[in-house]
Amino acid sequence: MKLPTFSRMRAFVRGPVNGHSADLLRMQNKKSKTNLLGMSPALLESWFVEKGEKPFRARQILRWLHQRYVSDFDDMTDLSKNLRESLHATASLHLPEIVSEQRSTDGTVKWLFESGSGQAVESVFIPEPERGTLCISSQVGCALDCSFCATGAQGFNRNLSADEIVGQVNVANRILPKRSNGVNAITNVVFMGMGEPLANYRNVVAALELLTSDFAYGLSRRRVTVSTSGIVPHIDKLGTDCNVSLAVSLHAPNDELRDQLVPINRIHPIDELLDACWRYAASHSNRFITFEYVMLKDVNDSVAHAGELATLLQNRPAKVNLIPFNPFAGNVYRRSSSDTIKRFQTRLRDRGLVATTRKTRGDDIDAACGQLAGKVSDRIRVRLSDKNLRVATA
Ligand code: SAH
Ligand code: SF4
Repeated sequence: MKLPTFSRMRAFVRGPVNGHSADLLRMQNKKSKTNLLGMSPALLESWFVEKGEKPFRARQILRWLHQRYVSDFDDMTDLSKNLRESLHATASLHLPEIVSEQRSTDGTVKWLFESGSGQAVESVFIPEPERGTLCISSQVGCALDCSFCATGAQGFNRNLSADEIVGQVNVANRILPKRSNGVNAITNVVFMGMGEPLANYRNVVAALELLTSDFAYGLSRRRVTVSTSGIVPHIDKLGTDCNVSLAVSLHAPNDELRDQLVPINRIHPIDELLDACWRYAASHSNRFITFEYVMLKDVNDSVAHAGELATLLQNRPAKVNLIPFNPFAGNVYRRSSSDTIKRFQTRLRDRGLVATTRKTRGDDIDAACGQLAGKVSDRIRVRLSDKNLRVATA
């Protein structure tokens, strides 16, 4: 079994992996104009007010960009010619570029989005009769190094900016045909692609504000899910800032095992994590939290593990989603058999828990949970050799 590199994860938790200034610098170097795509409604309003414009200009731009999918100022017919010219000079509406597209036999679509310096992140669209879910990335790689995850194995390069996050939704909605009732293909968004969303807190919250704003994508908060491996302080912060649905990657019912599978557990152990979860649920009318549990053969899948898990979650606003392990090159784990998964699920149900098993989608194109790897050049070792390294999760 591959043991996680604790020092690598520890450094990550303390401070910036790259932070706002680096994002901004990158944006400016690349474009030297402000990209309006990732600006939250409030930020865009202040941007216009600072320029001496009326605040309602923000709502106009948001509608054009995120609802009508128009990204040329000249096509925004309710803006005056003068304003359009001034926007051309100072702002851009830059969408992320697609490097490749793959389509699975089950209808799943995977896109690779360009992220600079030869790197790329992945997004996956999963069509279902009653909804269309886009699984999006929040970072180029991930520093948290969970031992069963292809993204973690790639290492970490940088946080995605808010425009790169929301841009995945914008571009996918442009490409995909509308649903039969005329609404956009994407009805649900999950932060379950590459990266740890709560480690890129500020940019993820800006993207969440756009996803849930009536002036932009207008998705209900129940249809937007942030999945985290357990950055406890940011779970509390998210509860205050943006009450979207929360999924927590638990994967083990005790600290000894979780320390090995999900190394962030050594900083925020299970009892601390669960307390934050119950606070989150309590502040949102006891809305259920989903606990993800990857089924690894002979590692965490016994009936005794199921019993321990039930004891942790019983009589709480919790449901369990079992994820059959998706293999990737170079990994030592194996997927639990379907009989083992069924037995585990039955034990949870017998103890009164809601437990489901996630259907594997898109595995013929390596688009299933945990298989997303993109193209990442790992900067972690470089950063760790730097004595002055500051790491931020903000
Ligand atoms: N970083 C976040 C979100 C991205 S991972 C998190 O960890 O929650 C999305 C989900 O896929 C998580 O539950 C993660 O644990 C799971 N996952 C990772 N690798 C996997 C694999 N190889 N097989 C199945 N699920 C996996
Ligand atoms: Fe990062 Fe999530 Fe993968 Fe863990 S499971 S390495 S937190 S992306």
